[in-house]
Amino acid sequence: MMVVYHFFVKRYGFTKYINHLKLKKTGQVCYNCVTKIEDEIDSDQEKPLLCKSCHREVHIQKLLNPHSNIFYQIKYLLLYRKFEKFVSIILYLVISFNIIGLVLNITKNCTVSQEFFSITSCLLLLIYWILMVFRVKVVMSGVN
Ligand SMILES: [Zn+2]
Repeated sequence: MMVVYHFFVKRYGFTKYINHLKLKKTGQVCYNCVTKIEDEIDSDQEKPLLCKSCHREVHIQKLLNPHSNIFYQIKYLLLYRKFEKFVSIILYLVISFNIIGLVLNITKNCTVSQEFFSITSCLLLLIYWILMVFRVKVVMSGVN
């Protein structure tokens, strides 16, 4: 997953990715269609926004199928500023689980819990990279 992430970022270009991440995160462009959002909302809010036409479309889709906007919600969450806090918590957990696993390995305590920590940290790391890959896809969607 890490390789896939680096492949994606490299393909789009790192600077381009960071620029679009910033634009979409702060609501300067629509996070669905990359249309520039005119200052209709006060800029200090700094959150991902949809342009008027995407907003309308989401509402129509929601009326037809109440669950259809889940993709927009996922996109929104991946760009929301608290997402960064969330992934850092995942990384902290991975690091602490690794340390705990290492300590258990050194002290030769029961191997079951040791395996539990290493499997959990691997799973968390996998989740982390899957989220990061999705984020690249979301950030670069609609960008040429
Ligand atoms: Zn839009």
